[in-house]
Amino acid sequence: MSLSKEVIQALAEITGKDGMRVDPVDMSVYAYDATTRWRGMPEAVVFPTQVDQISAIMALANAHIIPVTVRGAGTSLSGGPVPTAGGIVMCMTRMNRILNIDTDNFTVTAEVGVVLNDLNMALAKHNLFFPPDPQSFLAATLGGCLSEGAGGPYAVKYGLFKHYILGMTVVLASGDILKLGGNTMKNVTGYDLPQLLCGAEGTLAVIADATFRLLVAPQAKQTVMAIFDDVTQAGKAVHRVRSAGVLPAKIEMIDNWVIRRIEEHTPLGLPLSAAAILLFQMDGMAPAVEKETDQVIELCRKTGAAEVRPAKDATEAQNFWTARSFGFSAVFGSAPTLISEDVVVPTSRIADLIQCIKALERTHDLTIVLLGHAGDGNLHPCILTDMDDADHYERAQMASNAIFDAALAFGGAISGEHGIGLEKQQILKKAMPAQGIDLLKQIKRAFDPKGILNPGKIWEAS
Ligand SMILES: Cc1cc2nc3c(=O)[nH]c(=O)nc-3n(C[C@H](O)[C@H](O)[C@H](O)COP(=O)(O)OP(=O)(O)OC[C@H]3O[C@@H](n4cnc5c(N)ncnc54)[C@H](O)[C@@H]3O)c2cc1C
Repeated sequence: MSLSKEVIQALAEITGKDGMRVDPVDMSVYAYDATTRWRGMPEAVVFPTQVDQISAIMALANAHIIPVTVRGAGTSLSGGPVPTAGGIVMCMTRMNRILNIDTDNFTVTAEVGVVLNDLNMALAKHNLFFPPDPQSFLAATLGGCLSEGAGGPYAVKYGLFKHYILGMTVVLASGDILKLGGNTMKNVTGYDLPQLLCGAEGTLAVIADATFRLLVAPQAKQTVMAIFDDVTQAGKAVHRVRSAGVLPAKIEMIDNWVIRRIEEHTPLGLPLSAAAILLFQMDGMAPAVEKETDQVIELCRKTGAAEVRPAKDATEAQNFWTARSFGFSAVFGSAPTLISEDVVVPTSRIADLIQCIKALERTHDLTIVLLGHAGDGNLHPCILTDMDDADHYERAQMASNAIFDAALAFGGAISGEHGIGLEKQQILKKAMPAQGIDLLKQIKRAFDPKGILNPGKIWEAS
């Protein structure tokens, strides 16, 4: 479809001329996300600055049945913000005000375009801490993270975005503005609609602002790097630590291929010959951190670590974590097409999953690199391939499907944090019964009867 002159004119009146783009060159950057295989050109991009503008845009789109794809920073790894149905892209990056940091009640209310790192910088001034830390934190917005159900290394001890949301202001497809939830730690007022919107990938409503609970920053921290000659053994060590009842704040894994790419780009002191490393962070009261650190070192040694190195100071610890956050960037650009997976299994099955991935790599003659949030069972096997090389791409897809099958067989899920979007639609019906998918569709219809919000995502291929 193409937008009529009247609609373009009405959008410009709502946002002001500076608040929209219609030039194809300007709009082309909104045709992508961080995946390498999905594209879709919008017909207009709007940048609302207030909830009333979101409401007016949605009312207009609803009246004319125009698709609206909401967008944060576009760092999604599942195709979620790619406007494959055309229409309007609603980019939330100008709604970037932190509205209230409540230091008495440990909550923060912020507009959804606030970048996660900016939120944490502001909270640090009050010794406060918002733990969920997707490794795209330098760019990702609060709205995008909520809508993808995001989390990061801290999920092991502290959980995901959805574990911190208390309330939100949303705009429905009709343009109606609604307050959901509130400011309190507990709230049982009917169905938990804020939770429903976590992970809804922009298909149900536009989130305008959100209130989160906060924690006080931990008193002490210690980072430990455990070096393994065998990647499967690293997987076993993760479970050994978790099942011993030790609860590190973070347990991350990086394999040799990723270590070498990171060190090529930015030398940060990672061991080039390691088959894999595990990075642990313990945090909390100083004596507890000391005890947990000793336990982790001993358990890793007992599980075959070639070497276990506690970071000697805060700078070295920061270098290790910076290296980890470069993980995905090190992989992107290493092949024309990347199939980046996000499977999650119970930690007791991580070693089995790794073994299976290594076998698939050999059988299909592929390069599959491994990194991820091993401590909560969430790995990101990345298959380096090329869509234009039919034979290679077919083998990559076969391996990818086999990884999904293995994750499900091990009692896991097809996505831990990146969502379904476009990337995993084909596989959704394996992971959810038809009745479940039908319920998703009914919920969608209740929120968005005309189907204008992010059409074509999550279940379309089911
Ligand atoms: C280098 C790198 C590392 C990453 N590491 C992690 C990680 O550790 N953990 C993790 O969970 N993810 C990770 N990701 C994936 C990605 O960063 C997250 O999915 C992030 O939450 C997306 O935020 P965003 O602002 O970029 O949202 P976008 O990509 O712009 O949008 C994501 C989805 O949210 C919807 N949306 C956005 N804003 C709103 C809103 N206000 N209301 C309703 N819907 C909305 C969009 O329609 C889309 O479906 C990583 C990505 C990269 C590139």
